[in-house]
Amino acid sequence: SQRMPTDLNALVDDSLRLAYQGLRTKDKDFSAELSTHFDAALPAVTVVAQDLGRVLINLFTNAFHAVQQRQRQGADSDYQPQVSVSTKRVGNDVEIRVRDNGVGIPDGIRAKIFQPFFTTKAVGEGTGLGLSLSHDIVTTGHGGTLTVESQEGQGTEFVVRLPA
Ligand code: ADP
Ligand code: MG
Repeated sequence: SQRMPTDLNALVDDSLRLAYQGLRTKDKDFSAELSTHFDAALPAVTVVAQDLGRVLINLFTNAFHAVQQRQRQGADSDYQPQVSVSTKRVGNDVEIRVRDNGVGIPDGIRAKIFQPFFTTKAVGEGTGLGLSLSHDIVTTGHGGTLTVESQEGQGTEFVVRLPA
């Protein structure tokens, strides 16, 4: 697996659709509104596309689980699950933002989510390895950063920042 100049917009779009189909295969009734905002002038970024694809699929799958969980809680009947992603050039970096309006992350567990095997999901539904692996791929593998902001009960945004 070699680093190659990659069209990140295409990789993001493919990963979003793969993750969405993955969830709908397990739950035919699941649906979410997807929105994408791609920076048409995004520079090509030198990445291991397969590794970065795994990161994106992890982030999108987590986002879908979070909206699915909020929907299952059934607290508000007019809830509309939404997952959105944007790409943007920021100086010499590119930024990918993955946002959901799902359950959010309680403050007390925020510090643990990047630890290997940390999961709040049922046995068989989550290994707790996705974010730890993703963090490693983005930082050690690509010299970037992976950060998160979340409001419990409202949603979450993960930001992948990579040097262009
Ligand atoms: P897994 O998905 O197998 O549980 P991850 O490493 O991908 O493992 O995520 C660890 C934990 O972080 C999840 O179990 C969940 O509690 C929390 N988490 C990750 N992404 C989100 C998100 N978008 N919204 C709410 N919680 C999240
Ligand atoms: Mg996960």
